[in-house]
Amino acid sequence: MWVDVNVHLELMLAPSVSVNQAAAAMAVKFIATGTYPDQWDWLVDRTPYLAFGLHPRYAVQTSDWMLLLERHLRENPRSAVGEIGLDFRPQMPAREVQRVVFERQLALAKELDRSVIIHAVKSHSEVISALRRVGLNRFVIHAFSGSENIAADYLAMGGYLSAGGLLTYTPRPKALQVFRSMPRNRLLLETDAPDLPLAGMDQSSPEYLPIIGQSLALDLEISSSALEQLSYANACALFDYEFVQ
Ligand SMILES: [Zn+2]
Repeated sequence: MWVDVNVHLELMLAPSVSVNQAAAAMAVKFIATGTYPDQWDWLVDRTPYLAFGLHPRYAVQTSDWMLLLERHLRENPRSAVGEIGLDFRPQMPAREVQRVVFERQLALAKELDRSVIIHAVKSHSEVISALRRVGLNRFVIHAFSGSENIAADYLAMGGYLSAGGLLTYTPRPKALQVFRSMPRNRLLLETDAPDLPLAGMDQSSPEYLPIIGQSLALDLEISSSALEQLSYANACALFDYEFVQ
């Protein structure tokens, strides 16, 4: 079974029922990550595997969201925390606000013993320091596209790296080398749907995850079913449950 560890279900054009059906037809399970409070409410009951988090794009100084986040996490005992992280591109909220929002959520994840789906853009060294400060090691860096040195830091902490549609592009991305050489037991897959479309497509969707898997399996020189099995086992290990319905 393929597991897509990051889908933004509420942003997809198709209603959730058809996305769920299309994914089921392709034997793909997916984790739907809600990135701000209205999305958290919307996602509950629409799909079985959930993550709740305040994305750095929506980082705000006020903390009304924190109580709601904690409530959703407690009411959904298998849910993960995500996407959360740091994004230091100029159009994003002030860094200091992002840092506070990120660390509060890391601390909550640690307290509730949940795994975390992390968004890191132009911020890897800050994300690494925050993870070290909080002492959190159950995490995946989503759509990882950094260098081998950065990957080594995350892996040394116990983290996972997830590969996405970028790997289907020519010229091949630099991060491919990381996925080739990293320990296979820390590798995950995602579509980030509807973002990060695969080569030649306008929009991504969890039903396309096997295409990413087949492309990466070729690069790793293993069979597609071997990659399917190992990435499934990795997802079960990180999120601490079996993806069955
Ligand atoms: Zn992201």
